Amino acid sequence: MEIHLAHTQGFCAGVASAIEVVKRALEKYGTPLYVRHHIVHNTAVIKDFEEQGVVFIEELTEVPEGGRVIFSAHGVSPSIYDEAKKRELIYIDATCPLVTKVHREATNFTKKEVQTVLIGHRGHQELVGTSGYVDPGLLYVVETEDDIDRLELDPFKPTGYLTQTTLSVTDTAVLIEKLKDKFPGIMGPPKSDICFATQNRQDAVTELSQHCDVIIICGSGHSSNSNRLKETAEKTGNASYLIDSVAEFDLNWIVGKSRVGISSGASVPEYIVQDLVNKILEVYPDSQVFREESVEKDIRFAVPKV
Ligand code: SF4
Repeated sequence: MEIHLAHTQGFCAGVASAIEVVKRALEKYGTPLYVRHHIVHNTAVIKDFEEQGVVFIEELTEVPEGGRVIFSAHGVSPSIYDEAKKRELIYIDATCPLVTKVHREATNFTKKEVQTVLIGHRGHQELVGTSGYVDPGLLYVVETEDDIDRLELDPFKPTGYLTQTTLSVTDTAVLIEKLKDKFPGIMGPPKSDICFATQNRQDAVTELSQHCDVIIICGSGHSSNSNRLKETAEKTGNASYLIDSVAEFDLNWIVGKSRVGISSGASVPEYIVQDLVNKILEVYPDSQVFREESVEKDIRFAVPKV
């Protein structure tokens, strides 16, 4: 058995920075420490912090007056900052800088009264946050080609599109083409909103799929970028599975296969991948493990002041 690990996988710079913020805040201030929304979308990371006393909340009303709260990597809308100030909460912002970039683009569009088509998954925390930077009268959320078919915009007003950072690169390209066909003057962001980490992980899975006959993605079911990795592998015709931890791995998936490809989403700790590799090695002790250097090995984001 050959075990091939995607060269670029696991924690991205934004996730590493957000997790570091929580660790430093725990060290410096202890508990109770509140985090609005799961700091990143990974079950193991959340469980680990909960065991250390971190309280994850969805509404700021759950934080006592004057309490300390961290905002997750997915970003929040301006109304959340306003609410935190009003309630005199001490907040630390762990929003990924690449999400903040999309917030700035949304703000610019709204300042110029640009009708803003926001491509993303309805209800996803990042999309909810970004929506808050767009004037509600100018906001149009689209998720599918059907949404674009139904979309009606004022032809006399400028129009632009923005996207969530963790979408499928290929699916989003199709949606953008469709938007451009329907609204030829539509403006895009200066540079793709899909972040480099999402792009690199999808590219790495596509490469992996070319020489493997089954792909296993480590990642939580509610993680957007992990699900996109599974879909990326499926598009190449490979069987692909998503597991939150090694406990969900089924050995039957690799019976009769000779090359197993493994990758993980941007919010997945490395030990989860290692657990899976160890499990396969237990059953196939002569397996060889292959991994090339990550294309992101030198990328770090500054950790916000805690
Ligand atoms: S996936 Fe991209 S946008 Fe999200 S935290 Fe990582 S680098 Fe930032």
